[in-house]
Amino acid sequence: MDIRCGNGFDVHAFEPGDHVVLCGLRIPHDKALKGHSDADVGMHAVTDAIYGALADGDIGQHFPPSDPQWKGAASHIFLEHAVARARRRGFEITNMDCTLICERPKIGPHAQAMRAEMARIMELPLDRVSVKATTSERLGFTGREEGIAALATVTLVAS
Ligand code: MG
Repeated sequence: MDIRCGNGFDVHAFEPGDHVVLCGLRIPHDKALKGHSDADVGMHAVTDAIYGALADGDIGQHFPPSDPQWKGAASHIFLEHAVARARRRGFEITNMDCTLICERPKIGPHAQAMRAEMARIMELPLDRVSVKATTSERLGFTGREEGIAALATVTLVAS
C-alpha cells in the first residue's frame, strides 16, 4: 500500500481589522490577518500538508504571492486545487488534522463549524476531519497576539 503523510505549517500576522477567516469561517475579531489572499492560516497549512504528502511543492509555488490574481483570493481555491491534484494522482485523503495556535479569537465555539466547512470543501466525511486549537501560554508571537500559527497533518492512501 502507498500511504503518505504530509505536514503543513503557516503563520499570518495581525493587522487592524474587524474579522479573521479561519478554516473557511469568518469570525468577528478586533484584528484581521494580514496576507495576500484572505490569510486563512488554517486552510493554508492543510493545503501545504496535501502538497507535502504528494511531494508536489508548496502553496507559494502553485499560487505565487507576487501574482495579482490571488490578491484577496478565498483560500478554498488553494485547498480545492491540492485536493484535486491528490485525487488525480490516485490518492484518497483518509484524514486531516489541523491545529490553530492563538490566544484569541477563541476557537472552541467555532471548531465544529470549521470542521464541517473543511469537510465540505475536501469532500470528506466529518469523522475524518479534525480542527482543534491551543494557545502558547502567552509565550512568543502567538502569545503576544501578534499573529496566528497553524499546523496540519494529512494522510493519503493510494486508492
Ligand atoms: Mg499563508
